[in-house]
Amino acid sequence: MGETIFSKIIRKEIPAAVVYETDSVLAFKDINPQAPVHILIIPKKIIDKIHNFDTRSDSELLAELFQAAQQIAEEHGLSKNGYRLVINNGNDGGQEVEHLHLHLLGGRKMNWPPG
Ligand code: 5GP
Repeated sequence: MGETIFSKIIRKEIPAAVVYETDSVLAFKDINPQAPVHILIIPKKIIDKIHNFDTRSDSELLAELFQAAQQIAEEHGLSKNGYRLVINNGNDGGQEVEHLHLHLLGGRKMNWPPG
């Protein structure tokens, strides 16, 4: 597990449109949005994949990520019509940046199944 582009965003070494920040969580607009609202929610702590998430010691962090999703969805007017939360995990999951992140997508009707 190592640093990615997201570490630079966390340290504000490269710019990002930050919409939410706490001591442990950062959320910012995706640079290549796939929906009218497309926000990435990340733990500041480096965790590359779900399998390296410690379900005991990181349980509070999981709650904080969901808390961020709730607040961001509310602030973007998505609570009523809904939205999608996605974690691309590993190669088959389509993960490109190896720093665990939630995609919050909304503002249009989503398709299922995903491609
Ligand atoms: P993944 O495919 O790993 O689930 O998603 C990575 C996401 O990070 C992609 O949607 C991509 O557009 C976004 N991304 C990659 N580099 C940057 C960046 O430098 N800034 C921002 N804001 N988003 C990025």
